[in-house]
Amino acid sequence: MTTSNTVLSVEEALAHISQNLQPVCNEEHIAIRSALGKILSQDVHSNINVPPYDNSAMDGYAVRAADLPSQGKVQLTLIGTSFAGKPYTESVQAGQCVRIFTGAVIAKGTDTVIMQEHVECADNMISIGSEHKNGQHVRPIGEDIKIGQVVLKKGKQLTPADIGLLSSMGIPEVTVFRRLRVAFFSTGDELCPVGTVLQTGQIYDSNRYTLHGMLTRLGVDMIDMGVVHDTPEATEQAFLSAAQCSDVIITSGGVSVGDADYVTDTLQRIGKVNFWKVAMKPGKPLTFGTVQKATFFGLPGNPVSAMVTFYQFVRPALLQMMGQENITPFRITVPCLSRLKKRPGRLEFQRGILEKNEHGELVVRSTGKQGSGILMSMSQANCFIILPKACEHVEVGNHVLVEPFAGLI
Ligand code: AMP
Ligand code: MG
Repeated sequence: MTTSNTVLSVEEALAHISQNLQPVCNEEHIAIRSALGKILSQDVHSNINVPPYDNSAMDGYAVRAADLPSQGKVQLTLIGTSFAGKPYTESVQAGQCVRIFTGAVIAKGTDTVIMQEHVECADNMISIGSEHKNGQHVRPIGEDIKIGQVVLKKGKQLTPADIGLLSSMGIPEVTVFRRLRVAFFSTGDELCPVGTVLQTGQIYDSNRYTLHGMLTRLGVDMIDMGVVHDTPEATEQAFLSAAQCSDVIITSGGVSVGDADYVTDTLQRIGKVNFWKVAMKPGKPLTFGTVQKATFFGLPGNPVSAMVTFYQFVRPALLQMMGQENITPFRITVPCLSRLKKRPGRLEFQRGILEKNEHGELVVRSTGKQGSGILMSMSQANCFIILPKACEHVEVGNHVLVEPFAGLI
């Protein structure tokens, strides 16, 4: 166990968290339509070839390559049509061809497709020149997936393309890890839920709503436990009831060293604290531990810090617990259009806008004010600008590392 005064680097904290997680191992069979975002608990093999037969990649004419002329033109007799879903079933002999449409079975005896734009057709005869290649425009059996092939591996988080792949193999259900149960609450006497009128000294609770959004994106089961008051009794009570019903507990606020910060104390008393300071900005105080069997993350109260620590630590941890393998953040280096203030000593996650300049090249600029209470910076941003611990101010034109918020899938 790391003492509460230890300051860890972001890398050490990530490694530490990763080594102390228990993945869920219960599985469930679900329909593929419900499997988006779920994580496979078993490899998926294909029982068929995809495509299941040689078929045409074009609308045109299926011919025998042996009939194609090396120069000049050849005339072939049109003897039938192969539609997608309605194949031509007879054999095609020398000197013959069939009309064929995209996706239709390549007729017996033929092996090459000539695009309709490249032939002349009159009176059931077609005329073809010498510019064609043997076997062209044919999608061979098993081109996409071979029978017996491992198509999707255990630990893969299913994307829309994966759901499509599964259906292309005729697989109606998959085996995935069960959903993670995550309980979360905000701590703070000043916090008011939306829908009520603020009294002097109160603010609206935003962390519970951002957390709800971020957890929804991860596809976990959520237990929203509301706002917990700043007393040791209320905090302990909330921890214990959260531990009864969840795999993971996430709180925000109450993790610094203020008089009314009871999260870390309570965790020390009734659970296990692994560490609580990370050399990063924003989000320096972060608590990680366990309460009974539940994994515990205590996020800082400041709204930007809560989001940054969620994305950098909690999200990968939840994915690991959900059974996902290969959780590497996608990061790229681009020129920075803004001057960024930075002191050495902490790794910073500033908020940026990644965009194209007039030459079509990716560049990033700052969202502006970077205070940990300025949630607008997260709302306006589409990426983190990641500045290493030792780095000082960034000048205009310097290259910086960015982590885009959203991918296509
Ligand atoms: P704390 O970590 O509890 O000291 O909170 C740090 C700052 O974040 C304080 O200004 C709190 O008012 C603010 N804060 C804490 N929790 C929330 C929340 N759920 N929503 C919005 N602001 C919060
Ligand atoms: Mg507080």
